Amino acid sequence: MINNKLLETLYNLDNTFGVSGNEEETAAALRKEMEGLYDEHIEDPLGSQIFIKYGKDRERKIVLSAHMDEIGFILNYIEDNGIGRFLPVGYHDDRTAVNQDMVVMTESGKKVYGVTGSKPAHIMTEEDHEKVIKIEDLYVDFGTTSREETQALGVEAGDYMGFAREGYVLNNGKFYTGKSVDDRAGCAVLVEALRRLQDEELDVTVCMVGSVQEEVGMRSGAPLANRLNPELFLAVDVTLTGDTPGVEINKCSERMGAGPGIKFYDWDPILGATGNNVPRKVTSALIQTAKKHNIPFQREVMTGGGTDAWSAAMSGCGVLAGGICIPQRYMHTAVGTVNMDDMEYTVQLLVNFLKEYKGL
Ligand SMILES: [Zn+2]
Repeated sequence: MINNKLLETLYNLDNTFGVSGNEEETAAALRKEMEGLYDEHIEDPLGSQIFIKYGKDRERKIVLSAHMDEIGFILNYIEDNGIGRFLPVGYHDDRTAVNQDMVVMTESGKKVYGVTGSKPAHIMTEEDHEKVIKIEDLYVDFGTTSREETQALGVEAGDYMGFAREGYVLNNGKFYTGKSVDDRAGCAVLVEALRRLQDEELDVTVCMVGSVQEEVGMRSGAPLANRLNPELFLAVDVTLTGDTPGVEINKCSERMGAGPGIKFYDWDPILGATGNNVPRKVTSALIQTAKKHNIPFQREVMTGGGTDAWSAAMSGCGVLAGGICIPQRYMHTAVGTVNMDDMEYTVQLLVNFLKEYKGL
């Protein structure tokens, strides 16, 4: 159904299971996509996949990091009647977890499907209509009638669960919607960038990374930076857009199709507004490349989210770090949507930046 290489890679990665802490299936798919594009592969103790493409100088390194993990859930109890109870993994809007297709990754690696249930509208009280059902109050129905039957499927407390929605291309052919475009879109962009650099010998060594556990506190950035000691760390992630009804454009100025966002702030208000104010020389260098090659870009000044780059920035003796973001609609829901033009522009920005990079 999909023939374009970048789109095909996005589809292949988006349709794997990779809830934070259980990213193995996505990691395997990423290794497959990366075959032949790197000189050395390392898996770090947390599970991040590092693909090293040596440049003329092996010691000077740039890290490009996209997170493999997606938000999801963890089962915490199986009831007598076979239904499962679960808790959030990552930052959810509780309203989006009701009446969804779900998949549980069991300990043996088998996938078990279920649906999240709720009271039908016909019998809801006025009060029910008013209130949001918390994830803790939801349940997943595996089509079983007893705990034993559910356990016989291999399902146990501690298993991770994710959205089971298959991604597809919307009508104009440019928009792709999938459960985990955050951040398989970034992973796909990095694969495609490395493909286009396959026959190039760069001045610096590029470490392309599929990181883990970003959605539960940007946990990979610092360990990766400590291991690789890069002179520049760039996160490639998705960002919020303000071009849909109900979103205030002045707070969220990115638009679909207008090119990648170059990050000026990289921080997380949930963690007390800590993070990384991207040093001016990083943003200026990226903007220069975009302007030189007529690549559309957006200035991303948004305080509502952080990436692996900020945890990298404050590691060791300090690391020069910034980010490039792909605009995304419906962040942290099962129907996340990206524009393939933005993905293409992001690839172009990265490829040109790396080809011309001499140091900052
Ligand atoms: Zn993300």
